[in-house]
Amino acid sequence: MERERLLQRLKAERFDLLVIGGGATGCGIALDAAARGLQVALVEREDFGSGTSSRSTKLIHGGVRYLEMAVKRLDRVQFHLVSDALRERSILLRIAPHLTSWLPLFTPLYRAWDIPYYWAGLKLYDALARGASPAPSRYVSSREARTRFPRVRPNGLRGGVLYLDGQFDDARMNVALALTAIAHGAAAANYVEVVGLAQRDGRAVSAEVRDCLGGSTWEIEARAIVNATGPWSDQVRRMEQAGARPLLQVSSGAHLVVDQTFWPSKAGLLIPRTEDGRVVFVLPWLGHTLIGTTEEQASPDLAPTAGAEAIDYLLRHANQYLTHQVRPTDVKASWAGLRPLVGDPGKSDTAGLARDHVIVESSGGMITIAGGKWTTYRKMAQDTVDFAVRRAALETAGPCRTSFLELTGAEGLAQSSADLLGSRFGLDPAAAKHLLRAYGGRAVQVLEQGSSARLTPGHPVVEAEVVWAARQELAQTALDVLARRTRLAFVDHAAARAALPRVIELLAPELGWDKARRDREMRETAEVVERGL
Ligand code: FAD
Repeated sequence: MERERLLQRLKAERFDLLVIGGGATGCGIALDAAARGLQVALVEREDFGSGTSSRSTKLIHGGVRYLEMAVKRLDRVQFHLVSDALRERSILLRIAPHLTSWLPLFTPLYRAWDIPYYWAGLKLYDALARGASPAPSRYVSSREARTRFPRVRPNGLRGGVLYLDGQFDDARMNVALALTAIAHGAAAANYVEVVGLAQRDGRAVSAEVRDCLGGSTWEIEARAIVNATGPWSDQVRRMEQAGARPLLQVSSGAHLVVDQTFWPSKAGLLIPRTEDGRVVFVLPWLGHTLIGTTEEQASPDLAPTAGAEAIDYLLRHANQYLTHQVRPTDVKASWAGLRPLVGDPGKSDTAGLARDHVIVESSGGMITIAGGKWTTYRKMAQDTVDFAVRRAALETAGPCRTSFLELTGAEGLAQSSADLLGSRFGLDPAAAKHLLRAYGGRAVQVLEQGSSARLTPGHPVVEAEVVWAARQELAQTALDVLARRTRLAFVDHAAARAALPRVIELLAPELGWDKARRDREMRETAEVVERGL
């Protein structure tokens, strides 16, 4: 995959639709529009998924907490949101089977009267999913809970409830969306920033963009411009109208990762009640344990990190439920992201805001899509493209096709197996499983590009992935590889730092880096990994 070729297209062609932002929302829109036959451009100022979309809790869900809020407030909008998200959950599990899976979630309960409450709530969740889940939710006796979840604090445990939701690899799904959009004809490039918007006769018709790696600037013209910049949506809206009223109330959420020995289960743990009336998850993820998340007011101008207070909050809640206490020194990785929540001027508490999306058109004609969740990116994309087709009279557009359109890697998955990868490339079962999960049917092609030696001990990531990332997945920096093509920097900061010199050695010939660039990559990447993502 050649970024240069995509840049040339972005410089030479005129487009039906220009999408600003390469997170889940922007890449979902580019794919939807390209699959309808439209001429599509997408620009992302950093890497695909480098914003919020690589920093989620990795759940594809309707959200049991949102359902509880819907019931308590008799809020029909929230109710529909949960039901829509559960429909999307089924679609994502179908179109990206390698990157998604079902995840059982256990809620331990210590008060007898909580059991019928949570049981009934999950039966409602099942009903809204309309039988899509392979197994219904159920009550778990205290005896079964102690046997099946021995790491849950047993004192006073009355039992619990178990249900299924979806889990996924968010950054790899984001890259898969970008690559699938490109395969359908979109010109999508990372490290290209919109720095200004130009109008003709009062309508936004072009964007001034800058190649953040090469330095050149030019204009991209399109019949419709979509602002899909998540937490930064208001900043882009102000490029068009300096006085635009803010749409968003941004909050930040932190996660941390510890060894899987703290929670060695295939099921996740849902901590049903926190000090601030939220929930916290303890989840198995990529051979580790992920704990999240927090909710604090934030500003899109400041990159969020998981500070000591957030880590303390998460450990305090997790440790109330776990038999093996997690200390701050056990944390192997942490990160934080910004939630692009649609604001309600009447509410100061972002936890109470609905995770709905809105589509607004400015008087200059730019379309902004804001809010929503990862789980609903496909529906958000469909609604946005429908809106753009109507408003900009994009008459060549066909119908939306994304509910059945498989993402890159889904093809050939059925013919691949860990045994095949093991016998052909001498891979151990853990590495073979990892490659199938990350690349699906393309795992063989990945291994054909380079060595199957492990990048760093204790992690299943292999060297060929680095080469593949540069050649086929538009990775431009060592951090793109360590954070978003492989997820090493998200699960183990020390391992990511240890792998960094080899990653740079493998990337340098692929990306034509001289000594100065290699030194810069080493310094800057180490700094980012050191302070937390
Ligand atoms: P982003 O991913 O932030 O993408 C916006 C992009 O725009 C960025 O990459 C940015 O670089 C780019 N950009 C900005 N300005 C410009 C410019 N001028 N030019 C070019 N590009 C620009 N949802 C779920 O469904 N399940 C979960 O478990 C879940 N957990 C979450 C946990 C946390 C802590 C948070 C914060 C969110 C969570 N979400 C979850 C929500 C979900 O992650 C977000 O709704 C989703 O990722 C938003 O995607 P986006 O594309 O709108 O924004």
